[in-house]
Amino acid sequence: MEYDPSKRVSARPPSNSSMISKIEIEFGIPVHVTAAQERRIAEVIEEITGQPWNVPLEGVHWLAGMGSKPKFSQADALFLGREPDPDAPENGEPDFDDEVLVFETHARAFVTHREREEAFREREGLGLCSVCQEPQWKSPAGVTCVNGHGGAPAKES
Ligand SMILES: [Zn+2]
Repeated sequence: MEYDPSKRVSARPPSNSSMISKIEIEFGIPVHVTAAQERRIAEVIEEITGQPWNVPLEGVHWLAGMGSKPKFSQADALFLGREPDPDAPENGEPDFDDEVLVFETHARAFVTHREREEAFREREGLGLCSVCQEPQWKSPAGVTCVNGHGGAPAKES
């Protein structure tokens, strides 16, 4: 189906936001991370991917994976459209770097008309915030708006 990732559910991101495509964290020394901390990072990423200015109008965007960083062979990297690692072997199964924790989101167009209809019905159902009239969306903490009015009852638009 038709898909333009630059067209979003909301064309009005908050004025104090910036557009990025990646976050990198280099720890000064190796650190221990608990499963609960990983989960909290994942929740922030899910909050970001679920905000209406980060959701493609004609598609979906979600946290697709988290775990050790895969080290793809040069052949696999080329096949996947990734930048080949010069130190990686030419062929073979991917190896995993347990010292690098990776989170990855995916976005794609709706696959079926039914999926599109259901997504539009859900977006419509969340309505506008009854306090500030801004669009609402689902976050890990519940329904919220750009001003964080969390859970204000949906107002008919
Ligand atoms: Zn609000």
